[in-house]
Amino acid sequence: MSAFAPWQQRVLDSALASLAEGRLGHALLFSGAAKMGKGEVAMRLAQRLLCPTPGADGLACGRCRACQLFAAGTHPDFKFTSFIPNDKGDKLRSELVVDQMRELGHWFSLTPQMGAAQVAMITPANAMNLNASNALLKTLEEPSRDRYLLLVTDRPGRLPATIRSRCQRLEFRPPGKAEALAWLRERGHGEAALAPALHASRGHPGLASEWLATGGLELRRKVLSELNALSEGRQSPIELAQRWLEDEHAPLRLRFAAELALDAAAERLGAGPATGLTVPGDFQMLSAWFDGINRTREQLAVPALRHDLALAGLLLEWRSMSKATAMQGARR
Ligand SMILES: [Zn+2]
Repeated sequence: MSAFAPWQQRVLDSALASLAEGRLGHALLFSGAAKMGKGEVAMRLAQRLLCPTPGADGLACGRCRACQLFAAGTHPDFKFTSFIPNDKGDKLRSELVVDQMRELGHWFSLTPQMGAAQVAMITPANAMNLNASNALLKTLEEPSRDRYLLLVTDRPGRLPATIRSRCQRLEFRPPGKAEALAWLRERGHGEAALAPALHASRGHPGLASEWLATGGLELRRKVLSELNALSEGRQSPIELAQRWLEDEHAPLRLRFAAELALDAAAERLGAGPATGLTVPGDFQMLSAWFDGINRTREQLAVPALRHDLALAGLLLEWRSMSKATAMQGARR
């Protein structure tokens, strides 16, 4: 089994300690930012709960029949629930639906086939729609020995409070800077890019590592230079809006644009490092723009809307923000 990152290991250790002391909940909520490896830890714990002969280290033995079936993905007492194909079968649904939760409730009512326990995992748990959440609540209200429900989410606030309150929380916290940098270094990323990547990811090493591997940082640099071109009148807002939205990187571009505005706002207060943005908007303007971009990003999932118009409006605002402040400067 591969070694976990320190922030994963801390969560696993605390879950194993709870289990050893007999106070591990039957409904567990694995929460924390994206790319922190929550699902991997949940799987490792699931395997442990299903293994009848755990080792002295508290982990699954990895050798028994239950462990072999688990590793093969065919353990009859483990159920994994995530997105399923839509009715047409041409793509995955964007929600977890009520039928899935009913099926899960029914499955939990059966006797474990191998005897040790039944473990179900739901990911991402925040994708349950309202009916699905209500159906799951019924299952949660009937706790039973040796039945474990593992919920995994990077947006726990989107789960109904009625569900959250019934779960024991296992929270993944971002590590300190030194630990994060050491981990990124171990992944073989070039030294010079480590700190900028960690900064861009707001201290989340998993995300930083992904961006280093897939060109996310270059995309961020491009967004920065495009915003500067906009401020300086070298770029049309409408043309840029269309370009930003033309491919699957649209949400990431908007995320970077929003965060750059937030960094620039902090810079105005003397509270952050230089961003390299030439837009001189003030703190309030930049904060409002940050909100606007985030709203547009949230709405990208709604296909009926004219995202290009909404975004072009914001980019136009970005340009006038620069002009307004430039004129103020000239009067001084
Ligand atoms: Zn085993």
